[in-house]
Amino acid sequence: MQLYNIKHPEEKVSFKQAVLQGLGREQGLFFPEQLPEFTPEQIEELLALPFVERAAKVLEAFIGDEFTSAQIQELAEQAFNFPVPVVQVSENVYTLELFHGPTLAFKDFGGRFMSQVLRLLAQERKITILTATSGDTGAAVAHAFYQVPNIEVVVLYPKGRISELQEKLFCTLGENIKTIAIDGDFDACQALVKQAFDDQELREAIGLNSANSINISRLLAQITYYFEAYARLPCKQQVVVSVPSGNFGNLTAGLLAKALGLPIYQYIAATNANDTVPRYLASGKWEPATTKATLSNAMDVSRPNNWPRIEELFKVKGWQFKQDLFSAPVSDEQTATTIKELEALGYLSEPHGAVAYQVLAQHLQPGQVGVFLGTAHPAKFKAEVENILGKEIDLPEQLAKYKDRPLLSENFPADYDVLKAFLLAHTEAAKAK
Ligand SMILES: *Cc1c(COP(=O)(O)O)cnc(C)c1O
Repeated sequence: MQLYNIKHPEEKVSFKQAVLQGLGREQGLFFPEQLPEFTPEQIEELLALPFVERAAKVLEAFIGDEFTSAQIQELAEQAFNFPVPVVQVSENVYTLELFHGPTLAFKDFGGRFMSQVLRLLAQERKITILTATSGDTGAAVAHAFYQVPNIEVVVLYPKGRISELQEKLFCTLGENIKTIAIDGDFDACQALVKQAFDDQELREAIGLNSANSINISRLLAQITYYFEAYARLPCKQQVVVSVPSGNFGNLTAGLLAKALGLPIYQYIAATNANDTVPRYLASGKWEPATTKATLSNAMDVSRPNNWPRIEELFKVKGWQFKQDLFSAPVSDEQTATTIKELEALGYLSEPHGAVAYQVLAQHLQPGQVGVFLGTAHPAKFKAEVENILGKEIDLPEQLAKYKDRPLLSENFPADYDVLKAFLLAHTEAAKAK
C-alpha cells in the first residue's frame, strides 16, 4: 500500500515506511493512496468468517503487497488473541466490548498489532518508541512492547490526570519501558512528542518511532472490529455506531471500514466537554478550547490529531458530514446519570462507554439498530464508577496484579530540551547494555 502525506501529497511511502516513520514532513499524517473496496458479495463472505480470519483478510486488502498472506494471518493471530463480544443492552442497542485484552481497553488492538508489525521490521538498529498518552494508549503500548528486543519505549502522560490504576498498569513494568509524568495536560504531552518528531537530528540519533493513534498500523488494526460488530448483530437494518472519541483514531478506523464497503448507516462521534468536533460540525469553525479534565479522561483532547484524516476521507469518498456523521458532547453530570441508567438495564459501564451510549440513545430513531463501543473495562475506572453507583466493583486479575507494585515514573516539566537530553542519554545507556 502506498500512502501520501496529507500536508505534502508528493511525499509517498510504503506501509512499512509509514509504520517506521509515523508522521510525514511537517507532522503530516499518512493516508492510503488507494482505498480498497469490497463488493457486497465479498462483504457477505467476510462477515461469515471468524474474527481473526476475517481480520487477516481485511488487513490483506491494505498490506497484501508488502506481507504474505501467511505473515498477515500470523500478525492477526498474535495481535488479536482475546475475545471481542457483542452484548445486548436494550431492545435495539448493543455494545461491542473491546476491553478484554491484556490492558483492558480497546487500545490493545492497535498497540498489539503495531508491535507485531515492528517485530517483523526490527532491523539491526534500535527503535525508540515515543508516545503521549491520556491513559490507555500508554498502557497498551507499554504492554505490547514489553521485553521486545531492540525496542525502547518512552511514554509521556499528564501528571495527576490519569487514574491511579491506569498509572499502575503501565508505570510499574520497568526494563525497556520508561514512563514520564509531565507537568501539563495531554495536549502538552502530545506537543512534546510532535516536537521530537520534527527534530531530524534526534529522530536519526535514536531511531524515533511513534506508537500513538497517528500510526497507520493502529488504525488498520481497529478497522477489523467494526466488521465483528456488524457480523454479530441479529438485525442489520440501519446500523448506527457510536464511538466515544478523543483523538478520533477509533472513528477514523470505523469510517475506513465503511469505505471498504461495510454497510454502516451512520456514525456518531460522542465526545465529553472537549467538544471541538461537535462545535465544528455545527458551525463550520475549528475552534479548539482549552482542554478540560472530565470523567472520561482518555477523551480529554481538544485538538484531535486524527481529524485531518477524517476530512480527507470525506473528501475522497464525497461523503457529507451532515448525513454520515452525527456528533454531540456529553457532560460529566450526564455521564454519571448514564452509568446509573445502564446499571438499571443490567449493564455495568464506565465513563467512556457511557458517553457513547448517551448520544446513541438520544439520537437513535425507531427501526434503527445501535451499537456503542465499550472502550474500557469498568474496573479501569473503579473509583469513578464506585463513586457513581455507590457500590464496590471487582478488580479483574489483569489489574489486581499491578495494584501494589511501586511506580517507576520520573517527573519532568513540559520542556522539550529536558526531554531531548533525557532521550539521548537514555538511548546511549540502552545501547551500552
Ligand atoms: C483512547 C480512548 C478513547 C478515545 O479514542 P480515540 O481513538 O482517541 O478517539 C475512548 N475511550 C477510551 C477508554 C480510550 O482509552
